Order: sequence, then C-alpha cells, then structure tokens
Amino acid sequence: MVLADLGRKITSALRSLSNATIINEEVLNAMLKEVCAALLEADVNIKLVKQLRENVKSAIDLEEMASGLNKRRMIQHAVFKELVKLVDPGVKAWTPTKGKNNVIMFVGLQGSGKTTTCSKLAYYYQRKGWKTCLICADTFRAGAFDQLKQNATKARIPFYGSYTEMDPVVIASEGVEKFKGENFEIIIVDTSGRHKQEDSLFEEMLQVSNAVQPDNIVYVMDASIGQACESQAKAFKDKVDVASVIVTKLDGHAKGGGALSAVAATRSPIIFIGTGEHIDDFEPFKTQPFIRMGDIEGLIDRVNELKLDDNEELIDKLKHGQFTLRDMYEQFQNIMKMGPFGQIMGMIPGFGTDFMSKGNEQESMSRLKKLMTIMDSMNDQELDSKDGAKLFSKQPNRIQRVARGSGVATRDVQELLTQYTKFAQMVKKMGGIKGLFKGGDMSKNVNPSQMAKLNQQMAKMMDPRVLHHMGGMAGLQSMMRQFQQGAAGNMKGMMGFNNM
Ligand code: GDP
Ligand code: MG
Repeated sequence: MVLADLGRKITSALRSLSNATIINEEVLNAMLKEVCAALLEADVNIKLVKQLRENVKSAIDLEEMASGLNKRRMIQHAVFKELVKLVDPGVKAWTPTKGKNNVIMFVGLQGSGKTTTCSKLAYYYQRKGWKTCLICADTFRAGAFDQLKQNATKARIPFYGSYTEMDPVVIASEGVEKFKGENFEIIIVDTSGRHKQEDSLFEEMLQVSNAVQPDNIVYVMDASIGQACESQAKAFKDKVDVASVIVTKLDGHAKGGGALSAVAATRSPIIFIGTGEHIDDFEPFKTQPFIRMGDIEGLIDRVNELKLDDNEELIDKLKHGQFTLRDMYEQFQNIMKMGPFGQIMGMIPGFGTDFMSKGNEQESMSRLKKLMTIMDSMNDQELDSKDGAKLFSKQPNRIQRVARGSGVATRDVQELLTQYTKFAQMVKKMGGIKGLFKGGDMSKNVNPSQMAKLNQQMAKMMDPRVLHHMGGMAGLQSMMRQFQQGAAGNMKGMMGFNNM
C-alpha cells in the first residue's frame, strides 16, 4: 500500500524545514511541492491536492511569522491540518448503541467487497460482545445467499435469507423484523450490486433503505478503482444517505489515495478498512495510518495506541531495575507493530547511529527481525534471567548455540547482548532512584543531582543526533518528566517517543 509510503515522504518533506537555515518562500514552496508530489503519487485526487496547497499557502504569512522554530512548527502544523482534512470530513462517525437494534445497511457496486465486509463487521462486533446477525438481501447475484451463509456459519453468526424469494425488499424487511423481535443489537443488511452505477441498482437500494430504515448506511468501496472513487461515491451519496465508508482491498496494489476522495464526496468518514479476504483482515480506520503516520504527533498517537501487553508487569520490573532479554524482545515486537519508521528506530538508545546512517527503513526492520530471530533461539532461562548477558558471558557455548540456532555469526549474538546490556544498565539506573516511578512530578521525587545523573546516563545512551532532535538536555529532561507523569513505565518514554 503506497499510502504507508506517503506518510514517510511527508515526514521527510516536513523535515526539510528543520534542516533549512532560514525559512523563506523558496523553502516553503519546495516543501509544498514535495508534499503534493507525494500525495499525487499516492493517487490522491488532484483537486484535493491543489486545495491543500492553496490552503496551506493562505494560512501562512511568512512576513508576519515569528522566526525560527516557531515558524517551522506553524508551517508543519498547517500542512498537518490540511492532511487531516483529507481523511476527516469533520462529522463524527456513527456508532451503534448498546442494548438497542442497530440496523446497518451495506451499499456499493458488485465486487466491491460488500458481502465479505458485512461478515467482517459482524464478526468484529460479535467478538466485542454485541448480539449480531446478518441478512442477505442480494437476490441479483447467483449464489449470493450461499456466500453469506457460508461466512456466517463459519463465524457462528445468525443469518437470514431465502433461496426462493426474489424481492430483496421482502427479504430485508422480514429479516430485520425477525431479528429486531429477537433483540439483536447489530443487524447487518447486505444488498446487491451491479457492475456499474445503474438506475435499477439505485432504485432497489432506495426501496430496501426505505423498508428497513437503517441507522447507518455503509458505502463499501474498492480501493483499486483509484480516481473513479469520487464520482462513484457521489452517485451513491446522491441516492441514499450514506453515513460511513469502508474501503476494501487496501492489501492489494491499490495506491489508496484515490479512496480518500470518497470522504470529501460523501462527507462521511471512513470507519474501517479491509486488508485481505479473511474475516479478520479488517481494522478500524484511524486517520493515523494514512496521514498522521507522516506526522510526528501521529507517531506518538500510534505509540499510545499500542496496547503494551503486560505493561503492569513491566512497570513493576522497571521499578526494581530489572530488564530481561524477553522484555527487550517484547519492546521490539511493539516497534514492529508500528511499522517501519526510521525515526522510531533512531530513537532507541544505542540503535540510533546504526539505523539512521543506513537510512533504509526496510533494512532497519529486517535488522530488528534478525535480532528477534536471534532471541527466538534463546531458551526461557536466558530470556528471563535478571542478567541475561552475564549468563552468556559465563557460558560462551550458549552464544554458539544461539548463533547456530538462528543462523547468524557469534559476533551478531554478541552485538545483541551488548545492546541489551546498555538497555539494562539504563533501567537499573532508573530503578535505583527511589521514587522515580511513584507518580506525580518526578522533579519532586528525585533530587537535582540524581536527576542530573540520570539525564547524563540517558544522554550517553543516545545518538547525539537524536538528542539534538529532542531539544538537547532540556528536551531530554522534559521527556523524562512526561515519562514519569504520563504512561509511566512503558518503554516509550525511555525510548524517547514522548518527545518526538
Ligand atoms: P460484493 O459483490 O460487493 O458482495 O463483493 P464480495 O464480498 O463478494 O467480494 C468480491 C471479492 O473481493 C471476493 O473475492 C472477496 O474475497 C474480495 N475481497 C473483499 N474484500 C477484500 C479485501 O479487503 N482484500 C482483498 N484482497 N480481497 C477482498
Ligand atoms: Mg455480495
């Protein structure tokens, strides 16, 4: 999906501001050109791109702006705001009400992924504990009922349909009535499509809609249709009251950017995206993965979104200055979940220079994977030891065994252990400071000399460029404070995510 790339390109464009010594018209234009090129490459509608450019330009008055960092921030903010507009129609997404019948009707062209997506959505809600069912009101496509039946059966979702009734309005009404009577909370109505936007389709859609009075009409759109999205989405919106969009097939070759015009065309938010044929290839759409990913703030959100499993346990260990190889492994897993971001890699103490100088994110990820593969060959004793590195240095044959098991050189295993030792040392230092993890303002819990020592330690661990990026020692200090106050304990603070 090229959209993932988009975030990276936009970040890089925005970074160009930070690298420029002075910010003038020329620098601004060059940056905007880069942003727009990235958007167009991702297939975002040209009209939207033009609009974005104009809006940013008119929001910025270089003459009037204060100089320096502030100027950069304000420009970056303006760009970011416009990017968010691309995916955010400014209306709140519809959400179902617990304990009530929520009727959701799906519309879209044939092959866009309606039936598949109906099942995905039903499955999604069912897993969250909603009483969920499916209705097949597609009598146009041969085998439509069988397809839905099969999906529903597999996922154990109650369903309704008919092999003999040819009127979709009758089936939809009967089904909705039946399930309402049985107090179903999520009632999903699948409808038929046509290959193109035909009057007969729209007529049928309207009739079904009038009959079942849906609480939410979901327009399903195949991402691969690219620029055709806009007119298609408009056509549907003109007929029925589309309130949400689901974009499918984002796992394929689609660049994805075209799909964003559906947001503007329908003035409806994208609520989910489909990323494969399986029932759980489905995720709530957050603006982050599309656009905010490219923004520094977005990275923080993304980190915050991650459910750091066993967080409590980790905090407790950190309090006692403990950090095992398994803890490191789990932190790497979290990073992998966030996707390939050079910036994030660069933030990890000690990894910075390595990853940044290589510059290639894919390489960074494969490197991380390699480290995890190495750790996969470690046994529980090694992973859970309070001082894993010591275990290896005492019994070097462990290193050989792990190297053999993971197909790497012993030097690679040693490097990993060095990295781990650096991490663990820092944790030890932090854990050793009484009250550090007590909550509240760290500066109250920790005396200035301890604080200074801690900062020095942190600074030593970090790539100088990363430190610089974080605003030097002052930035580091404020990061430490945030680490303490906010999501205290999870590694993101330590890794410097809080202040990116
Ligand atoms: P409908 O005609 O709108 O009901 O579309 P279907 O649900 O029958 O889907 C059409 C085809 O697209 C099927 O082969 C699905 O497996 C496939 N499909 C649906 N959603 C996705 C998706 O997110 N990714 C991929 N790769 N295929 C999908
Ligand atoms: Mg279908």
